[in-house]
Amino acid sequence: MPMAPFYTRFPDLAFEEMRTVYVQGHPRLPDGHYGFLELYCNEKGCDCRRAILQVVSPLTKDKVWATINYGWENVEYYESWMPGDRETAREMAGATLDTLNVQTRYANALLELFESLLLTDQAYVDRLKRHYRQFKEAIRNEDLGNRSRRKKRRSGT
Ligand SMILES: [Zn+2]
Repeated sequence: MPMAPFYTRFPDLAFEEMRTVYVQGHPRLPDGHYGFLELYCNEKGCDCRRAILQVVSPLTKDKVWATINYGWENVEYYESWMPGDRETAREMAGATLDTLNVQTRYANALLELFESLLLTDQAYVDRLKRHYRQFKEAIRNEDLGNRSRRKKRRSGT
């Protein structure tokens, strides 16, 4: 499941609607702004219903402070399209640190922040689901566009 940043398809909306959190006096995190950059799966026909959040800071530009996997469906949903792989399904449901990506020593604190501050905000969770649907629709449309172009080439028009 290849993941691509939301901003690759929605450059304006992605930054307008990216959630940022200002942290001050946190026992385990440096003071400052943290942005939760969204990535979604760009595999056509895949309905994995999850987001990857890369936590970034304006002070460190491209550095990713934590990579969080967030699946809003329950374990059974993920298991239904990965039969027999309950361990992966369990990792996909809820919020976890993504095991395939680099984490920093702040990753656990950022995951806790994400769970306590953002996942308790229903409007934020709904926004992620909406972005997911918009992204998937863009992927679908790109695929349809590619297919009709191929068809045209074949028929020589
Ligand atoms: Zn997917």
